Amino acid sequence: MPGLDPVARLPEHLLANARLLRRLATLVEEHSEELAQIESHNVGKPISGARGEVGMVAQVLHYYAGAVDKHFGETIPVGGGVDMTFREPLGIVGLITPWNFPINIASWKIGPALACGNTVVIKPAELTPLSTMRLGELALEAGIPEGVLNVVVGKGLVVGQRLIEHQHVAKIGFTGSTEVGQLVMQGASKTIKRVTLELGGKSANVIFADADLEKAAAAAPYAVFDNAGQDCCARSRILVERSAYDRFAELLIEATRNLKVGDPEDDATEMGPLISAQHRATVASFVESEPIFRGDAPDGKGFWYPATIVEARPDDRVAREEVFGPVVALIPFEDEADAIRIANDSEYGLSGSIWTLDGARAFRVARAIESGVLSINSNSSVRPSTPFGGFKRSGFGRELGMHALEGYSEIKNVFYSTD
Ligand code: NDP
Repeated sequence: MPGLDPVARLPEHLLANARLLRRLATLVEEHSEELAQIESHNVGKPISGARGEVGMVAQVLHYYAGAVDKHFGETIPVGGGVDMTFREPLGIVGLITPWNFPINIASWKIGPALACGNTVVIKPAELTPLSTMRLGELALEAGIPEGVLNVVVGKGLVVGQRLIEHQHVAKIGFTGSTEVGQLVMQGASKTIKRVTLELGGKSANVIFADADLEKAAAAAPYAVFDNAGQDCCARSRILVERSAYDRFAELLIEATRNLKVGDPEDDATEMGPLISAQHRATVASFVESEPIFRGDAPDGKGFWYPATIVEARPDDRVAREEVFGPVVALIPFEDEADAIRIANDSEYGLSGSIWTLDGARAFRVARAIESGVLSINSNSSVRPSTPFGGFKRSGFGRELGMHALEGYSEIKNVFYSTD
């Protein structure tokens, strides 16, 4: 067996990059309980959810450690020579992240940005900087050279704005509100920065009468009340075929009643408080009629808001705007065409679910709904290896999976004449 020819080896710089990302992923695993505790305190989210999120951070970083040498160019048939493409790093990328899943969303951007050979300046939300700051320390511990992954805290209007305007920042990767997303686009236009935007959502959970109603109802509360509804993928509109509406509503109320709301430090807690008093007031403003169900919530310290189910028409405010809190709108529909029409009657298009035992219908509806991420008989939205992102005003560009690498690299075309 001959030894490995030096020219057949993997390039050293790619190996080094992959090793550093892998070490960071391993350090996240080793510090997972510490990071989960920080995140739970940071956001006020249940510790069980924070543990799951930190677990995903490690998986995402492992995934991109493995992606470093698998993102490459192609050759294209042309006359008179050989044409080839290369994937070049962008340079310095600015990342602006929100308060709802701080370390998780940070990893979705840092992983592909570093895998492509960029340097990063990340600005976490002012309300929740702690977990990202700790990730920055672990990056140094992993051996990532100083200056490659920079965490800069401060207000969006100051630090975020500076990143958007700075002439040496090549790209902004942003997750947050549609309004700030618009500002990012406007600001980026001055220096023709690349931009990816992950914005809001008003996702539909579509339940057909032939679905496994018990299963769909048992899963529905977690798809909207998880993270106290502060989730861009929240299925905050549940569309139910009229013939199954009353039965589903009963099952949904029963399942929501079982939701464990309380102290985020308790392992059994499934829903904690909201992020701020101001945000709670915004959430409350969406409940304009008497709900068909309002859950319990502690009255002590914390910005508590109970899980709330309201019946709505498609043009009600609660059915059109992103609540970003534990309020779900239940809406009946008549048939498949009506379900698709209501689901698409939104300026957003991020996520959604379809529950039916008719496989052909499941695919017809999945293809017809204008949304970037759909699940059939499931409410999952994010996995390290599959693309995540929105249609319409939910943004553009994709995170996660190999698709995210497109947003952190530039294609260079080189022609070599053989004449
Ligand atoms: P924002 O869009 O205001 O904040 C997201 C990030 O952008 C934060 O880091 C913030 O910094 C920064 N930012 C704010 N203003 C600017 C600016 N002018 N220039 C550059 N960066 C800026 O979201 P909020 O946190 O205020 O939440 C408001 C609403 O947005 C929510 O109720 C929800 O509807 C939606 N949202 C959607 C999210 C999603 O996952 N798609 C996530 C979070 C919010 P800082 O906080 O430090 O000011």
